[in-house]
Amino acid sequence: MFVSDSLNVNEKGHLTIGGVDSVDLAKKYGTPLYILDEDGIRANCKAYVKSIEDNYGGNGLVLYASKAFSCMEMCRICDDEKMGLDVVSGGELYTAHRAEFPMDRVYFHGNNKTQDELSMAVEFGVGAVIVDNLTELESLAKIAEDAGKVVNIMFRIKPGIDAHTHNFIRTGQIDSKFGFALETGEAMDAVKEAVKLSSVNLVGVHCHIGSQIFDIDPFVLAAEVMCKFIADVKAETGLEIEKLNLGGGFGIKYLESDEPVPYGDYMTKVADAIKAACNDLGIKLPAILIEPGRSIIGSEGITVYTVGAVKNIPNIRTYVSVDGGMCDNPRYILYQSQYEMLCANKANEEKTETVTVAGKCCESGDLLGENVKIQKVEPGDNLAVLSTGAYNYSMASNYNRIPKPCSVMVSGGKDRVIIKRETYSDLTRNDI
Ligand SMILES: *Cc1c(COP(=O)(O)O)cnc(C)c1O
Repeated sequence: MFVSDSLNVNEKGHLTIGGVDSVDLAKKYGTPLYILDEDGIRANCKAYVKSIEDNYGGNGLVLYASKAFSCMEMCRICDDEKMGLDVVSGGELYTAHRAEFPMDRVYFHGNNKTQDELSMAVEFGVGAVIVDNLTELESLAKIAEDAGKVVNIMFRIKPGIDAHTHNFIRTGQIDSKFGFALETGEAMDAVKEAVKLSSVNLVGVHCHIGSQIFDIDPFVLAAEVMCKFIADVKAETGLEIEKLNLGGGFGIKYLESDEPVPYGDYMTKVADAIKAACNDLGIKLPAILIEPGRSIIGSEGITVYTVGAVKNIPNIRTYVSVDGGMCDNPRYILYQSQYEMLCANKANEEKTETVTVAGKCCESGDLLGENVKIQKVEPGDNLAVLSTGAYNYSMASNYNRIPKPCSVMVSGGKDRVIIKRETYSDLTRNDI
């Protein structure tokens, strides 16, 4: 019935998440409110960890891509679930550090890490820096050398696979700002540079082929291409790459019509492909790293708003305005992302209306959805947008000086704040 197992309807006809009444939470904490189901998040973490145990003898690590939703509590949960973290900025790295996340399980990404960020990574002793380009390799080697340290690195490779939802193409795909191209020889040249440097230790190769992918085939193909590269590296330099990081991008259910593949199926097929490729190529099996972000947390979160004005423009459309918008969820204005919505306090009623849900920002494009099927909504109702756990809070802004909402986590029928609502004084904190 719902896009997530976390969701249900109670005897009052209210939407529940993790068994907790979302309308009650909206009353208790105010709106807009992000609500996350911790039990659902942990179940997803466990499914990924188990998939590596079942299919690959546990020889790997699941890294949560923290850009999907980064905060200290999420770092603690990932640590507790024996996972690693993928961070893409000094801020995400700092968050992990503050949460006392074990730094040897932190992997630092990004196509343009600053000198300060690289220094921070070396100082904290991260598990590996995923090096994107030669400029970065040089800077990092120098920083590590000056610190008298050896830093583990992986190379970000463009495997030449462009995965879109429901179809993928094997192309040159060298037009990306991320990483080293394979077919031009750029990636191999980088490996040869790295082996000359004494302050870096090349432990792995990485690729990430896209996001919200429902098809397993592009992942299998990427794994095969990467194994071939590992074999080429061994042949040309003698270096045996220990780790193969296949990135994230596993699709989730935003709409009823979306059909994600069970995570276990992904690892079964990918592990088989890697074992076969390594056998054919005569190389030892690398440890596998994967980096799910959206699929850990996306479906386990909702956003609850309060409806203000409802404007019916005859023969055109009905605008339902809510007390948030692009400031807490910029995904519609960015990519016209579709979401399921419902009236949280009338969740048992039929969806009889088709409306446009508008935010409160000073932008005509500030919408959360068009042609949204929903119950009859009236001012004061609570409107819930589903599957907003990923890339909502983490992409939120203070546009129009709107404070960022509170995030509440529910577990075992209890709720707790994990990120406080911003206050007006937070907004002026750095103003002089
Ligand atoms: C964004 C990203 C991820 C996570 O992608 P999801 O679609 O959220 O699973 C993982 N790895 C890298 C390098 C990324 O850029």
